[in-house]
Order: sequence, then structure tokens, then C-alpha cells
Amino acid sequence: MSDNLKYDVVVTGAGIAGIAAAVAAARKGMKTALIEKQTLIGGLATSGLILVYLPLCDGFGTQVTFGIAEELLKRSLNYGPFELPEKWGGPQGYNSNEVRYKCYFNPAGFTLELDKVLLECGVELFLDTMVIGAQTDENNAIRTIQAANASGTFSIEGGCFIDTTGDASLIRRAGGAFETGENFISPWWLENAPGRAERYHFTDDIHIQPTGPINQYPKIDAPETGKSATRFTRTAWQIIREHYEKIYAEDPALRHKHFPLHLPAMPQFRKIACAKCCFMLDDDMYGRHFEDSIGLYADWRKKGFVWETPYGTLLPEKINGALVAGRCMGAVGDAWETFRVIPAAAMTGEAAGVAAALAVKNNCDPKEVKLEELRSELRKNNFRFHLEEAGLETRK
Ligand SMILES: Cc1cc2nc3c(=O)[nH]c(=O)nc-3n(C[C@H](O)[C@H](O)[C@H](O)COP(=O)(O)OP(=O)(O)OC[C@H]3O[C@@H](n4cnc5c(N)ncnc54)[C@H](O)[C@@H]3O)c2cc1C
Repeated sequence: MSDNLKYDVVVTGAGIAGIAAAVAAARKGMKTALIEKQTLIGGLATSGLILVYLPLCDGFGTQVTFGIAEELLKRSLNYGPFELPEKWGGPQGYNSNEVRYKCYFNPAGFTLELDKVLLECGVELFLDTMVIGAQTDENNAIRTIQAANASGTFSIEGGCFIDTTGDASLIRRAGGAFETGENFISPWWLENAPGRAERYHFTDDIHIQPTGPINQYPKIDAPETGKSATRFTRTAWQIIREHYEKIYAEDPALRHKHFPLHLPAMPQFRKIACAKCCFMLDDDMYGRHFEDSIGLYADWRKKGFVWETPYGTLLPEKINGALVAGRCMGAVGDAWETFRVIPAAAMTGEAAGVAAALAVKNNCDPKEVKLEELRSELRKNNFRFHLEEAGLETRK
């Protein structure tokens, strides 16, 4: 493989955040590479067998998240059996989440559609290619990364880098600081089980079997995720085996009808590591005004809890030349729990992609991108930044 690959924007990790970032940068005319260690794209959303595209609205009928997050929500339906709710908004009530602006999607179908999105805007996708190193210059700016695949090890130069690895791999490899998160084991997998009325239902036979939280899992020592991922995944497999052993013990004939079809192809960790950023969103910051907000996101669990998203949460504190997005953005505690999901990954990914494009265009660091220029680009894709723009009140 050539050792002088060079791009304007290099995005590491093709989950939802990475895809949104790469698409946003490419649509701004950037020569964009997207590096993915698996041979599937979509990350946890697709190879992790997640099928719920969480809401873009506040639960009381107001849409707060727009742009690529909304485009992907609609496009996630193209190769699957699900529809958008005809009406969303719903009655007032803390837990009445069912009629929000969200949908179910078919993970395999969504993968196919995501590839179409990348093809349409000319993002260069590297599958089966793992980012294994990063070099910084005298200003602590990432200039080159190392990747490895079956062709060997090679370098990729970039004008700006975006870490969307879901575990801040790039920032960690560049020597940046990070936080680790709590996890619990609750396997979700695809099964054939006619007649079992499961919540996540594709057809009369096929559904996703989601188990509730079963085991607490200790905080992951992030540099050691290899070991953690093995332990975590094999414990999940044991839980799944026990699930079927119990069913078959009660009725051995069920083996012909109830069986697993597909297991998640990546560890179903919710929070591994996020970059320590210039600003860390924390508990109780919902409803607050942030001068540098680059988008709105509503809590997927609680109606009416809308968050502004400071640009500082996409800027790694000690590392320059790079942004982060998705579940490795700067957030801790309940804020991380709120933002670690698909629509927030798409929204922060798009903002990071546009910011990277501006940094390259203006030959500056992402930290020096002018907020008004960034917002004016995002506004073209319908973004709202402050609660008042969505007709909502700021919390005093
Ligand atoms: C059990 C479970 C249930 C969930 N339920 C929901 C739900 O109902 N709705 C919802 O919206 N969200 C849900 N989530 C969360 C959500 O799916 C993810 O957090 C979200 O999709 C994260 O997107 P991301 O792009 O930030 O990261 P990821 O999806 O983790 O994508 C990161 C990508 O980077 C790649 N990568 C990592 N390291 C490297 C490297 N070194 N080199 C190259 N590539 C690399 C990975 O292979 C992956 O493709 C759930 C999560 C779990 C675990």
C-alpha cells in the first residue's frame, strides 16, 4: 500500500458519528477518508444490533435535532419493515416516550443505506483497517496516523482528524487524556422465535431479544479494552446460552423454533472512554445556555430535558488538529448517558465534520474555527443552537 496517503479530513471509526462527520466534511468539498476496523459500517447501531433510532424531539412535540441526524433517521427505514410514527409529539407525561420522533430500523438494511450515503458524496472508505498510532507535531497537533490491514502498516496524512472510534482510540494513541465509563451487561441479539411477542419485532418470527441489565461490569481500564472486550463478550454469550438452555429444558421441541440468528459483532459496551475535552458536559447541565452551543439534543429517557451542546465538548483538551464526536465526545455522568446514542452521534458528527472542513479551508486549528462561521454552515442544514430558537425556555 502507498505510504503517502493524504486527505483533507481523516475520520477514524465508521459508526454513526464517523459517517455523519465524513459525509459533512465531504459535502463541504473536502477530500475525506473514513477508516473502519470492521467490514461493516454503522458501528454499534448496526453491527451491535441496535435497532432503535432514538428521538429528535423533546417529547412534547418540538423537534430539536436536525441535519444529518434527521436525514439518517429517515434513510434508516429504506431497507426494512419499519415506518416513522404518523404523529409524534404525544401526550404530556414523564415516561410517555412511544410517540416521539424516532423509529426502529433494520441494522443490516441501515448498513446498506449508510454505504449509499458515503458513495453519494465520495468519501473514501477503508474497511478492515485499524488505526494503530498517531503522531503529533511540536504543537501537539495530530499530523499523521498509522493504520494496519492485510496489506501491511501504512501512514495517512490529514489536514484535520476526527476521532469517532467510540472509545477515543485516536486521542489516546496521540497521548491525549480520557475518562472511562460504567457498563453493565445486557445482551441484545437477533433471534428466530415465532409466537414470542417481543418488543423489538421485525416479523412474526424474527426479533431482537433485549435482556435487561443483568451484571454490573467494572469500569474498563481503557488501554486494556482488548482483554475487557473478551471477558465482557464471553459473559454475554454465556447469558445467551443460559437463556436457550432454560427454554429448551422446559420444552425440548422449542429448539426447532426458538434459536439465535445473529450475535452482535462488536462488544455491547455503552461507555468505554471519552476524550477529556475543553468542556466536559456534566450532570444537571440540561436546559442551560451555552454561548458556544453547536446543536440541541433531547434526553431519550426523559421528556422535556433538552441540552445545548458546547463546541468545547468536541475539542480534545491537550491534542490539536483533531475533533471528537459521538460517544467519545466530552461528557461525563448523566450527560454521557444522554449523549452516547445514535441521534446525538449523528448531530455531533456532523458538527465535527463541518468544523474540520472549516479548519482545513481556513488553515487553522479546530480550536480557532470561528463559531459564527461554523454555525452559519450548520444552520444551512436546519440546526438550532439555543433553546430559545426551538421555542424552549432556558433553565435559570
Ligand atoms: C446494548 C446497547 C443498547 C443500545 N441501545 C440504543 C438504542 O436503543 N438507541 C440508540 O440510539 N442507541 C443505543 N445504544 C447506543 C448506541 O448504539 C451507540 O452508542 C452509538 O451508535 C454510538 O455511535 P458512535 O458512532 O459514537 O460509536 P460506535 O458505534 O462505537 O462506532 C465506532 C466505530 O469505530 C470503529 N473503531 C474503533 N476503534 C477503531 C480503530 N482503532 N480503527 C478503526 N476503526 C475503529 C468501530 O469498529 C466502530 O465501527 C445502545 C448501546 C448498547 C451497547
